[in-house]
Amino acid sequence: MARYTGPVCRLCRREGAKLYLKGDRCYTAKCGIDRRGYAPGQHGQGRKKQSEYGVQLREKQKARRIYGILETQFRNYFEKAENQKGVTGENLLRLLERRLDNVVYRLGFAGSRVEARQLVRHGHFTVNGKKVNIPSFLTKVGDIVEVAEKSRDNNRIKELADQAARKTPPAWLEVSADQFAGKVVAVPSREEIDVPIVEHLIVELYSR
Ligand code: SF4
Repeated sequence: MARYTGPVCRLCRREGAKLYLKGDRCYTAKCGIDRRGYAPGQHGQGRKKQSEYGVQLREKQKARRIYGILETQFRNYFEKAENQKGVTGENLLRLLERRLDNVVYRLGFAGSRVEARQLVRHGHFTVNGKKVNIPSFLTKVGDIVEVAEKSRDNNRIKELADQAARKTPPAWLEVSADQFAGKVVAVPSREEIDVPIVEHLIVELYSR
């Protein structure tokens, strides 16, 4: 299945929540959901009542869209989360957070997860000194994520590193923006994952 390439603000409007898919623009008055806070399409302003299934489905779609993941891959994450000890919903979010593209975004080396995915794909990052161009690469505690040497003169990356120096990453990550590097220092706790997702609804959906 092809990846969605249409207008991304539509996705936020569909979910009725800011998913922060466009980087800096999401924090301005140009935000699509601030300008048109209703679902897209002819019936976007019509019926609002949703079935229980509809609510669960929307929650899963929201999570997929935030992290930019296709259905099959998302289902695989769920199965992996189910087989881990602990609360399945929280395990799922932890797995999604540990993806390399998300870590790059959380460290501040990309303006959005979409940009992070593209930068990783283009080989601009290394993990523990080795080039990794797979956005879904699962990082673990102790991993060091760095901008590749050859990419440190890239104007966009320099700009992002300057911005990263002014931001505070979540507590499970450490960033040394002047060194173009970051480190995974812990597994994220649920409280440290600031995504507007009610994960137990996703668990309920897949448990039907
Ligand atoms: Fe969503 Fe960002 Fe578009 Fe706002 S600007 S609707 S948060 S993608």
